[in-house]
Amino acid sequence: MPTAVVHLIVPPLALLSTGAFRPRLVLAMCLLGLLPDLDFFVGVHRASLHNVFLLLPFLAVGLLWWRDANPQRAFWGEANLLAFAFLGSHILMDVFVGGVVPFWPVSNVTFRFDVRVLVDTATLEIESIFRPATQEGAPVTSPIYEWLDGTEFSIVALTVVVVAAVLLRGRLALLPGIVRRAVGRLTGARRL
Ligand SMILES: [Zn+2]
Repeated sequence: MPTAVVHLIVPPLALLSTGAFRPRLVLAMCLLGLLPDLDFFVGVHRASLHNVFLLLPFLAVGLLWWRDANPQRAFWGEANLLAFAFLGSHILMDVFVGGVVPFWPVSNVTFRFDVRVLVDTATLEIESIFRPATQEGAPVTSPIYEWLDGTEFSIVALTVVVVAAVLLRGRLALLPGIVRRAVGRLTGARRL
C-alpha cells in the first residue's frame, strides 16, 4: 500500500486546494484517510474496509445535503462528502499498490493496476508497465506487516499535533494555562 504518510497528507492537500470545503473540517477529518487499513483488525484486509459499498452511504448523503438551504444539513452533507473523499482516495491509491477487493462481500476478486517505470540511466531506455490485473481472493500480505517505520511515525505524529493545534485555535480557554500559552504561541491565536 502507499505509506500511511501518503494516505494522511495527499488527500487533505488535494481537498484544500479545491477551495470547496471548510479547511478546519478537512483537517478535522483527515485521519479518516488511514481508517480503511484497520480492517487488519476487523475482517479481511484490503476488503472489509476497502470496498465501494462502504462509500455509497457517504456519497448519497453528501450529494443530497451538501448545498441544502438548512445550514445543519449542509454541514452534514459536506462532512459526508469529505468522508467519501478520504475513504475513496485511500481505496483508489491502494488499487495501484497491491490492489483491493472493491465489491466485497459480493465478490472476492482483487482488482489492481500494476504500474512500473524503469529508466536505464546508461542507455536512457525506459521500460514501463501499465497493466490492469485481477485475481481471486484478497491480496496476500505479510503476517508481520510494518504499518509505520520511524520516519513515517514522526511525520504522522507531527501532522496530528499541528492539526490539533489548528483546530484548537479559539478554543484555548479549555486548556490548562501552560499548554494554552504554548499552543497560543505556536498558532498565533488571539484569544488566550
Ligand atoms: Zn489500505
